[in-house]
Amino acid sequence: MARRFAGGRLVVASHNPGKVREIGALLAPFDVEAVSAGELNLPEPEETGTTFRANAELKALAAARGAALPALADDSGLCVAALDGDPGIYSARWAGPGKDFAVAMAKVHELLEASGSDDRRAWFTCALSLAWPDGHVETFEGHVHGTLVWPPRGGRGFGYDPVFRADGHDITFGEMDPDAKHAISHRAAAFRQLIDACF
Ligand code: IMP
Repeated sequence: MARRFAGGRLVVASHNPGKVREIGALLAPFDVEAVSAGELNLPEPEETGTTFRANAELKALAAARGAALPALADDSGLCVAALDGDPGIYSARWAGPGKDFAVAMAKVHELLEASGSDDRRAWFTCALSLAWPDGHVETFEGHVHGTLVWPPRGGRGFGYDPVFRADGHDITFGEMDPDAKHAISHRAAAFRQLIDACF
């Protein structure tokens, strides 16, 4: 049995205001007062893990211990089958210091072309961890599988959305209505499991 959140204040272990808002909205139906790690001046730990799960857990635990409150963190990225799962946990880092995802998408495309493989399968992963100050942590993983397209299509979404077409759809995440994407995304899948188990 997973440990349940007892209600009250919950730290969203992110310094990204967009992410904090989105998570706050997802948790709005529950007895949760979301506060961000940024508002509490918590330091951002280095993402030293080698898996999505490890990075989500280390971020959630650092915030829970730092704030003496339960804390929620996520880690996500794009995994490409023919690149042995890359960029994976390095998805944000492939965009460089300027966070330029046109560069990151072009890098994926170039490596795929150089690999000689015609396998274009890929998936997004999201690991979501809820940690408590005593060190207890619950983690859930969601995925969405699909195919990479080139060139990029669509100006909606973010990150690698313009090159990812989910299975069963003929438009990319970059072309999709945001609500339609959120209904099938890796993040939504992880959230559904978290809510069922802990809220
Ligand atoms: P994180 O904030 O460390 O979890 O970085 C996740 C990175 O993975 C983002 O910067 C994006 O590049 C990529 N990513 C994760 N989820 C998505 C998505 O839904 N669409 C497009 N890119 C995503």
